[in-house]
Amino acid sequence: MKYKWILFDADNTLFDFTYSQKKALGNCFKHYGLEFNDEIFSVFTNLNNEIWTAYDENKISHEEIKTLRFKKLFDELGYNSVDLNEFNNKFIEQLVENSKLIEDTDTYLEKLYGNINLAIITNGMKEVQRPRFEKCEHKSKFDNIFISGEIGKSKPNKEYFEHVHKATGALDKSKYIVVGDNIVADIYGGKNYGFDTCWYNPNKIRDKNEKYADYVIRNIHELDNILY
Ligand SMILES: [Mg+2]
Repeated sequence: MKYKWILFDADNTLFDFTYSQKKALGNCFKHYGLEFNDEIFSVFTNLNNEIWTAYDENKISHEEIKTLRFKKLFDELGYNSVDLNEFNNKFIEQLVENSKLIEDTDTYLEKLYGNINLAIITNGMKEVQRPRFEKCEHKSKFDNIFISGEIGKSKPNKEYFEHVHKATGALDKSKYIVVGDNIVADIYGGKNYGFDTCWYNPNKIRDKNEKYADYVIRNIHELDNILY
């Protein structure tokens, strides 16, 4: 094996987070007797991405994310009678409930297990990520799980990757590869720290930051061409 560690992003790299979010948000809307459709989900996705980007740029805190995303969504939809904290708690509970791996990922994790060290590197809230990972039947295959909400730093910041590096024995940086779908947080962040990077890009999107990817894959099984 060329590498000693694979640092996997979680959401939309190993886990189908788009599915989980849509299901969770739909169930919350239903719970409150509100209508839900694809358009509302797309408004939420855009608002949520903007908020997480602001977090990655250290402009807002984890605590603020929890209610701000729903405040913005409900302002946009003209709903003002929903308790934001209560809605957020319900949403977190539903995210955990509706977590699932991307198709084919489980067989590939089986194949890797025991041959290389595996870690998860994720930006997210501990209240969401910990219980989701606890529920995942492949949890024990990961030597470490690094959650930004616990560390206090997030991808793509160097301090985040430095924390991961030290906690995994601080081997030569060439022994690590980051695999993730986010071209900034995972790929620019990993490369900027000095790790090799593999962009998981199933939808073949183009991005000005793609130069930071050493490799690009459309499916997790394509890692075979890189690792062996
Ligand atoms: Mg991701």
